[in-house]
Amino acid sequence: MTVTDYFLPRSLSEALDLLGARGPSLMVMAGGTVAMPLVNDGISLPTQVMGLRHAGLDELREEDGELYIGATVTLTRLLRQQALPVLSEAARNTASWSVRNMATVGGNLFTPPPGGDIAVALLALDTSVALTGPAGTRLIPLGAFYTGFMTNALQDGELLTGLRVPRVAGDTAFIKFGRKASNTPSVVTVAVRVARHDGTVTDARIALGAAGPHPLRASAAERVLAGSALGPEAIEAAAAVAAEESQPFSDGVASEWYRRKMIRLFVARALDRIWQGGEDR
Ligand SMILES: Cc1cc2nc3c(=O)[nH]c(=O)nc-3n(C[C@H](O)[C@H](O)[C@H](O)COP(=O)(O)OP(=O)(O)OC[C@H]3O[C@@H](n4cnc5c(N)ncnc54)[C@H](O)[C@@H]3O)c2cc1C
Repeated sequence: MTVTDYFLPRSLSEALDLLGARGPSLMVMAGGTVAMPLVNDGISLPTQVMGLRHAGLDELREEDGELYIGATVTLTRLLRQQALPVLSEAARNTASWSVRNMATVGGNLFTPPPGGDIAVALLALDTSVALTGPAGTRLIPLGAFYTGFMTNALQDGELLTGLRVPRVAGDTAFIKFGRKASNTPSVVTVAVRVARHDGTVTDARIALGAAGPHPLRASAAERVLAGSALGPEAIEAAAAVAAEESQPFSDGVASEWYRRKMIRLFVARALDRIWQGGEDR
């Protein structure tokens, strides 16, 4: 079977109408960097495809103390924004220039592990995702978006339209560890955010990629950090708990055993960067 109908809606309402009329057999495509290879390889066989490129979902703006990122903002644009440097860092560590020019932030949330590097950084920043359907838009925490391996909270007739990233307190660090220095799948991706007052941790986020069926938070490790004095002891304890609670897997990139070891090492390294950075924030 080949694609017989290709739609390029010019607005969100046009896109939603098409989705409503054509149903789940209409393949939604943003940058196409994940979806298109599946079509080319015959793994996915849609007859009708809808491109989101011109649907008006590419706004990137700061408003009311948060960064709004439209679902089809490319990773190249994310890399260039300066409001949240940790997101630039995540984009710089994702794929290559040519892929980043096409790949979208929204599409990254649907990418199966070990992909989803941007989503890991977004999780550490308490991002909410906007899901829009015929009945309107609902806003849910990114953590609640994921329901399992390649499953999520998006309902039939809905599109992911944007992300709201609050300007939360704290210092951040992002590390993607792969088998090459760049343009490489993740062995483990770690994004951490730590807020402190007088050296005591008041709020902590530890988000992991390639450590489970989807990007996830190491919540038990976050609880270990909360209320502690950030230093070698607390860092080592939190990293050990993060490795324990994660659910790594084996694939062509790394074994489960190795990933778990690297989770411990790189959570500790990311937290150490914040500790060595000094000041409370
Ligand atoms: C060579 C190469 C290297 C890569 N390296 C990395 C890497 O290092 N790290 C990484 O995280 N990823 C990597 N990727 C994967 C991919 O490029 C990114 O994750 C990208 O952000 C996916 O976005 P996209 O717009 O291309 O998604 P698409 O391929 O357009 O879509 C992917 C899926 O998401 C759905 N979707 C997309 N947008 C929406 C929306 N707004 N509403 C509803 N459904 C939607 C589509 O229906 C589809 O099922 C790589 C890909 C390639 C080809």
